[in-house]
Amino acid sequence: MTGEPVPLRPDLVALSGYHSPQVEVEVRLNTNESPLPPPPQWVEDLRAELSRMAFNRYPDRDATELRAALGALHGLGPDRVFCANGSNEVLQCLLLAYGGAGRSVALFEPTYALHRHIAALTATEVVSGWRLPDHRLDLDVVAGVLERARPVITFLCSPNNPTGRAEPPDVVARVLELAPGLVVVDEAYGQFAPWSALDLVSGGAPGSERLVVVRTFSKTWSMAACRLGYLVAAPDVAAACAAVVLPYHLDTVKQAAGRLALHYVEAMEERVALITEERGRIAAALGELDVESWPSDANFVLFRPHRRSASDVWQDLLDRSVLVRDCSTWPGLDECLRVTVGTPAENDRFLAALRAALDGPGR
Ligand code: PMP
Repeated sequence: MTGEPVPLRPDLVALSGYHSPQVEVEVRLNTNESPLPPPPQWVEDLRAELSRMAFNRYPDRDATELRAALGALHGLGPDRVFCANGSNEVLQCLLLAYGGAGRSVALFEPTYALHRHIAALTATEVVSGWRLPDHRLDLDVVAGVLERARPVITFLCSPNNPTGRAEPPDVVARVLELAPGLVVVDEAYGQFAPWSALDLVSGGAPGSERLVVVRTFSKTWSMAACRLGYLVAAPDVAAACAAVVLPYHLDTVKQAAGRLALHYVEAMEERVALITEERGRIAAALGELDVESWPSDANFVLFRPHRRSASDVWQDLLDRSVLVRDCSTWPGLDECLRVTVGTPAENDRFLAALRAALDGPGR
């Protein structure tokens, strides 16, 4: 046998990974994490549970207590909840269960890149349409795409990453009417928005048995390091995901971390209030600068420098030890940058650095 490299699956050859540069900076505003650590008492609670944990045993395969606690949080039974290692793994399980060769999913660009990426990893065809220039969904485009492709899953992202707006309730309800299959509403930033599609799930809206809402502990819960996400859906959807995920995928530490976090809803809501206020301050400041910016219902703001290129501004910010996300090569986002809302001090650093960067030499 010669040492020929084994060829990659042909449909994956053109696929590049999804990576945000990880560089050492003083002000990290590129991946939409919470700028604040979790409550200190939560760390103490977790420490106490760790000291009692049976590390020689596999975890509870069904994450029974965690799912019950999440169900209770949303006023639903545990059979409506499925948990995994971050909402990305939740999305992957949905695609393993419902996607695959010969099936398609629909999405509307610009939107969260991982919906397309995970679909490709699971050999699921992606059909897409464009949003309007102001980034709202165009329901005529949605209707056309869904009519033509009959996708097994239609992805919405609300608030939409990286553009920022939440989809209004009537838009989600209309997409649910138009879609032939599941409608997955990715609410990674749901707590920052004025409403949630969870209201449609628990309210039993028409088609709600096909509605899936995906949430994460990575943002508002200040637990990105834990990798924990979940979905709320009809019991058959939750069961389908549980059937495709690897056995014992959710370790005991993480199950406890998530369950204990739910004792701190009030602390989480205080953080959301602080970040929402800071988002308003950033939006107002951007309004005074030489950039175009878009309104946000999330913990980040998308903007486009007018006079200087996005990459020059990004580099100038980095030179001042402020890291934001360069979205300028993403579909439909020419010359755009995205800044995560940080602590008040971090946001001051960002705004001062941006003012200086925008004064630099033009394109
Ligand atoms: N959905 C959206 C819209 C996101 O922006 C992110 C994080 N970038 C995720 C899902 C994934 O989050 P996690 O896997 O950390 O739960």
